[in-house]
Amino acid sequence: MTKRVLVTGGTGYIAGELIDQLLARGFAVNTTVRSKARSEPRLRARWPEAGDRLQVFEADLLADAGWAEANAGCDAVAHVASPFPMGVPKDKDDLVVPAREGTLRALEHANQAGIKRFIHTSSAAAIAYGQPEKDYFDYTDWTNLTAGVPPYIESKTVAERAARDWVAVHAHDMVYCSINPVAVFGPVHDADLSTSVQVVKKMLEGRFPALPDMGMSVSDVRDVARAHVLAIEAPTETVRGERFPTATRFLWLSDFAAILRARTPELARKVPTRRMPDWVVKLLSLVVPAMRQVRGELRNLREVSGRHTEEVLGFTFIDPGQTLEDTARSLAAKGIVRA
Ligand code: NAP
Repeated sequence: MTKRVLVTGGTGYIAGELIDQLLARGFAVNTTVRSKARSEPRLRARWPEAGDRLQVFEADLLADAGWAEANAGCDAVAHVASPFPMGVPKDKDDLVVPAREGTLRALEHANQAGIKRFIHTSSAAAIAYGQPEKDYFDYTDWTNLTAGVPPYIESKTVAERAARDWVAVHAHDMVYCSINPVAVFGPVHDADLSTSVQVVKKMLEGRFPALPDMGMSVSDVRDVARAHVLAIEAPTETVRGERFPTATRFLWLSDFAAILRARTPELARKVPTRRMPDWVVKLLSLVVPAMRQVRGELRNLREVSGRHTEEVLGFTFIDPGQTLEDTARSLAAKGIVRA
């Protein structure tokens, strides 16, 4: 019989790629959106062949309505939805509450529906922050919240901790694991871009006059989705309680720029070559709220290893140069950035 997977937040970047891969592998998919009227036509247009294999339900992370229906008949849940905004909200609870409550709500409804496999899209945000003395992290590390971290980082850490605690107490026979991507790039489907992809878009558009001395480990959206699929399909004891960081190499923004110039020269004319001095970043952070996060990242090497994930799930991540090239080419192919 066809297995059915609930993917929460079907409008999102990672969820879209995951639905693509699940449908291609013969799964049926239920997905939740906040507004069916707004989102179902877009999802149907993306997967016109799916028919009844794709069912769309209205459910918000902050309310119970719709969750029982969305879970009914499913064999596994991939809980992907969580707020991931570009800026920093005034009130951290705008992120922490939906991340934590939404995850617990998704778990409770999955458990009530008798679903035994729950894949949680967590983040390297739950692994690699609040430890300034370290520059290398893996699946065994946890973000130190007592150090004071930005609200998004806190939201993902609190949500993953809460999920693990909840499963330990309430659902011993549920197999829970987390997927922990870092900064996700790769082919895009439409102009509704995730916060991570905006970095490459802005670079190609010349919206960064110079590059701050900061960087990030790269995850490819295809690898992130594949890790979810493999975690759904793997034997119970292979994935129970696991954490699966999906990251290749740490790249400085200057590496991003060099890769884009080398691999997509026709698109990279506006990619900056100059470095932004730290004092400029610090000055700008006094007036531009988004620069405060950049200031906190200056010269911060934060390598997150995905080797454990490659070994346990048995696949090799896409090279980050390829990921960035494919991001740029798809942004151009969709007319989102102009050459
Ligand atoms: P995205 O494209 O912004 O997707 C976020 C999804 O969450 C959207 O479908 C959004 O629905 C949904 N959502 C937000 N608040 C909601 C609420 N109150 N109720 C119901 N749905 C809500 O982001 P993404 O990059 O695909 O991220 C997906 C997941 O991956 C998130 O959990 C994020 O933390 C995690 N992650 C992302 C990255 C990255 O670099 N992209 C890295 C690590 C982890 P609407 O369309 O209605 O807003």
